[in-house]
Amino acid sequence: MPCSYVKLPDGTIAIVKHAAERAPRCKFCTVLHDGSGTQPATQLCDFEIARTLGGDPITCDARVCVRCARRVGDKDFCPNHSG
Ligand SMILES: [Zn+2]
Ligand SMILES: [Zn+2]
Repeated sequence: MPCSYVKLPDGTIAIVKHAAERAPRCKFCTVLHDGSGTQPATQLCDFEIARTLGGDPITCDARVCVRCARRVGDKDFCPNHSG
């Protein structure tokens, strides 16, 4: 069973079992591909919606599947931000 160790910010080591992990379903599939089922949302929208005071980009981070995501260069955009 595939699993991996994840170090949390407080130093705790957590074991993540991928087989037990439920991938969230893409919420855009029901809108864009009505009736054809939803795909696991494996992508995060990289659209920059704001910046922190330190200048770091804050991205949309909407979960979207590969079918609904629009890939531009090395970034993926959710349907809300692909137009
Ligand atoms: Zn989708
Ligand atoms: Zn987005």
